[in-house]
Amino acid sequence: MKYCSECGQRVSTAVPAGDNRERFVCRECGTIHYQNPRIVAGCVPEHEGSILLCKRAIEPRVGYWTVPAGFMENGETVAEAAARETLEEAEARVDVGALIAVVDVVTARQVHIFFAATLTDPGFGVGHESLETELFEPGAIPWDDIAFPSVRIALEQFLLNRENGNDALRVCAAAGRPVD
Ligand code: ZN
Repeated sequence: MKYCSECGQRVSTAVPAGDNRERFVCRECGTIHYQNPRIVAGCVPEHEGSILLCKRAIEPRVGYWTVPAGFMENGETVAEAAARETLEEAEARVDVGALIAVVDVVTARQVHIFFAATLTDPGFGVGHESLETELFEPGAIPWDDIAFPSVRIALEQFLLNRENGNDALRVCAAAGRPVD
């Protein structure tokens, strides 16, 4: 960050009073610009036993497969964000179900949150952030071409839960390590 979003003056770094880490601060207007992890919300949409995946049309990882997911917007819940991303990326309407994975992506300063979901009707399409969308039977999931480790974790947890007949939640880091 170079310039204050409040007043446009150049910011500097300092540890504010009562804080314990460096922040971008504006000496002109006094604003402290806190930077915190961003939340990515997504879901694993199921329809008649198959899973709806999207081939990414945008960077990063163009051409790789993902579940519908994206940054939360202000004014919506995590589940609403997951449903909205599914509509945007795959033109599919879903009932959002159980929370199945919370993945810390510390290096990217993000937290990825995934739900199980079911299509409310069989229709889906190709949103502007996707090159194509497709329903995959579990045995046909393109594991070698999955866009991100967190998506792999969500898919694995979804399939494991289905096998076990439960709604277990996996909390881990992007590398798959359990969080202490
Ligand atoms: Zn300022």
